[in-house]
Amino acid sequence: MSIKSEIERLNQELPAGVKLLAVSKFHPVEALREAYDAGQRAFGESRPQELKLKAETMPDDVEWHMIGHLQTNKVKYIAPFVTLIESLDSERLAAEIDRQAAKCGRTIDCLLEIHVTNELTKSGWDYNELLTFVREGGFSNYPNIRLRGVMGMATFTDDEAMVRADFERLAACKAELATYFGEEFDTLSMGMSDDYHIALEYGSTEVRIGSTIFGAREY
Ligand SMILES: *Cc1c(COP(=O)(O)O)cnc(C)c1O
Repeated sequence: MSIKSEIERLNQELPAGVKLLAVSKFHPVEALREAYDAGQRAFGESRPQELKLKAETMPDDVEWHMIGHLQTNKVKYIAPFVTLIESLDSERLAAEIDRQAAKCGRTIDCLLEIHVTNELTKSGWDYNELLTFVREGGFSNYPNIRLRGVMGMATFTDDEAMVRADFERLAACKAELATYFGEEFDTLSMGMSDDYHIALEYGSTEVRIGSTIFGAREY
């Protein structure tokens, strides 16, 4: 399957209102260009410098989403133009995003990445710690951040029941947090190449799809 035909297939398959994020990390800009020519405008990258380089090469109407773990010292590379930081996972990072956003005179849209699996390797907030922070009004210290929703990943497993439980939990976290942040908190980013069908059943509003579109990554 070509990049173009996969994008067309996904656009037909995804319900109205679900955003397709093309995860282009580790793929060359030629591959992104092919996706762009097929009408794709939202791209996800996991490394800030790679994201910046690609943004300099690609047309201006691309939406750039940062989806990988973001170190505080690298926020500056993407702050001037990034569309959505999906991996806001700590107060320290929030403080730095806020600082860099202010420097650029922008408000940066972010998703709260929540850790719902038992895997040690996945990043994200512990939900109870996040909820405590939110209840204390912690984010009011960061006026240059606009919280738009939740991002998360399911456990990497063949056990579908476990994957379902993870997506159900992410959806519940998003619903509870929305009571604090209101209507703008409207995004539930969950579902990747292998599990997006299931994520959609739990109300995903954005699926992040890499290998199905671009093929396997070469690290
Ligand atoms: C790499 C990545 C994806 C895409 O994964 P695929 O399995 O290639 O679709 C989605 N979300 C995050 C956070 C990722 O790091």
